[in-house]
Amino acid sequence: MLEYVVIDHPPLAPQACVGCTRQQGPTLDMQREILGYGRLYLCLRCAKNAARLFGLVDIGKVDQLEAYAEQVLGLERDLAVLTTERDTALTNFALSARSANTLAERVTELQDRCTHLESRIREEAEVSLSLVGGS
Ligand SMILES: [Zn+2]
Repeated sequence: MLEYVVIDHPPLAPQACVGCTRQQGPTLDMQREILGYGRLYLCLRCAKNAARLFGLVDIGKVDQLEAYAEQVLGLERDLAVLTTERDTALTNFALSARSANTLAERVTELQDRCTHLESRIREEAEVSLSLVGGS
């Protein structure tokens, strides 16, 4: 027995579900062809109906699970967007912190130079005053 494959759209003629002729949505490719008809596909709706008739599943629960799966996909998309925003914010924060550190180092350097220059000015003033006899 060939393995069935789930595909988005039936690509080969007649490009439709063998049960209902539907051509949209996820479709089971049954990996078989009938001469004069073409490839056999079974749509999700017909597969669910068959599963229900065989007593394999509770369709209400399947529908509920599908709705949950859609919600999870939406949440995963939201999470991906938020993760990207968070990463960008973290990068910007790191760059800002680096800039802040650089500025703080520059302020300290300038403060040290100011202190040094004040000291030199004071020394020069004392030398100048001593030359003119001041104290
Ligand atoms: Zn169908």
